[in-house]
Amino acid sequence: MLSNLDVITHWNKAIEYTRSRSPASFEQWFSSIQFDQLDEGVLRLTARDGFVRDWVKAHFLPDLLTQLDKLLGQPGAQGIRVQWSINSDLENPVCAAKVSRTIPPPPPTSRPVERLASVPPSRPPALTVNLNPKYTFSNFVVGPSNELAHAAALASAGGGGPRYNPLFIAGGTGLGKTHLMHAIAHKVLEGRPVARIVYVSAEHFTNEFIEALQHHKMDDFRTRYRTDCDLLLLDDIQFLAGREQTQEEFFHTFNALHDADKPIIVTSDKYPQQLQRMPERLVSRFTSGLVADIQVPQLETRVAIVKKKAYLEGIKLDDEVAVLLAQNVQSNVRELEGALIRLAAKSSLTGRPIDQEFTLSELAKAAPAQRDIMSVEDIQRAVCGHFRLSNAELLSKDRHKSIAFARQVAMYLCRQRLKCSFPELGRAFGNRDHTTVMSAVRRVEALRAKDPQVNAHLEAIEQRLAASEE
Ligand code: ADP
Ligand code: MG
Repeated sequence: MLSNLDVITHWNKAIEYTRSRSPASFEQWFSSIQFDQLDEGVLRLTARDGFVRDWVKAHFLPDLLTQLDKLLGQPGAQGIRVQWSINSDLENPVCAAKVSRTIPPPPPTSRPVERLASVPPSRPPALTVNLNPKYTFSNFVVGPSNELAHAAALASAGGGGPRYNPLFIAGGTGLGKTHLMHAIAHKVLEGRPVARIVYVSAEHFTNEFIEALQHHKMDDFRTRYRTDCDLLLLDDIQFLAGREQTQEEFFHTFNALHDADKPIIVTSDKYPQQLQRMPERLVSRFTSGLVADIQVPQLETRVAIVKKKAYLEGIKLDDEVAVLLAQNVQSNVRELEGALIRLAAKSSLTGRPIDQEFTLSELAKAAPAQRDIMSVEDIQRAVCGHFRLSNAELLSKDRHKSIAFARQVAMYLCRQRLKCSFPELGRAFGNRDHTTVMSAVRRVEALRAKDPQVNAHLEAIEQRLAASEE
């Protein structure tokens, strides 16, 4: 049984350790936290508000609890439960608020939610709420598909390495662009809690701009984005396509920040040159720093991501199941994550363990959604590769036997794997009649069943397709 004095000593040691890990932001948060009690494995804390509680929970508690566990002689046991209370009036906070002359005054009016405003030291930047606490650098799995974007993002957050301004992160949906943006914000705030960071989607930027125009608040809008901003994170810039007035405003925002050497990070689902209805002068600004892309991660990286997510969500997952998931959900990390969460939810509802059999049956149920990952072009490419034909030959009117056979095989595979309609396929194969496609598909179906050579061709192409999905 620990005496009260022992408990306080342990708590103080754990707190000193936490302070040493994050000296820059410690006061910012722990001046709004009060230690009440540690008794029989229950740690009672009070936070000034829910936001402080959530932040401390996400950013400091795991380390703090590990440290306490160690001090109490039960490392790894995770024996401590935390009970939170909220009280805006703390009698005895863990530490006093740091007073610094360099901290700017609080914003005069309430700001839109995406604002991470400058704040006085006693109050944490309350509008960081819409940063996802899980989107940190430590939760981001780095692999060949994203290492450049990751390194550049880390550098722009002051994590070392050359800093490019602007940094333009391009990549398909669900591949971690927003995650990296939030990670930059978290890291900058960790080092400098009062940093004036604006994280905003291009859509929100547009809406705010329109609102400012309507209500004659352009001065406020410009102060917010040009003067009161140390770091601008603009997500999904492709949304600005064709919005000329917003583009114009953004162009000036960009220049003002760039001239003041304030970092600008932009994400997009396309490379700058591929952005449609975007003026050349903006495109050339985007390419003036570093354009880092994120590709679809390879199998190994996907496995590592699934494992990381499972760990973060507290889902117990065997290595084989992680591999199965990663093999089956290939094109998008968000979907991969979704598959894992669904699996865990199903497992807890039905009481079935997450083993290979259960995973396979659940994946099979979700399979239709996977089909559209592959396109007619992918299949045509694989068939051309196998039969050593050009795409033009495949789509031509050439009735030479070997070319015609390859064409029929491609049609059959498209029909079977993509479930395209016959007229759709006719169009995709050089504007042929749908009846031609129908008879091609039937012919290959029949041949496959009785001719081992045809079957061998098909299997080789299917292997090619599977490999190209990797
Ligand atoms: P995007 O903005 O590119 O559409 P997000 O950043 O929203 O994609 O990512 C989608 C999901 O996938 C998020 O939950 C994110 O955490 C996760 N994710 C993507 N890439 C990685 C990675 N390399 N490591 C860990 N999680 C990742
Ligand atoms: Mg995004």
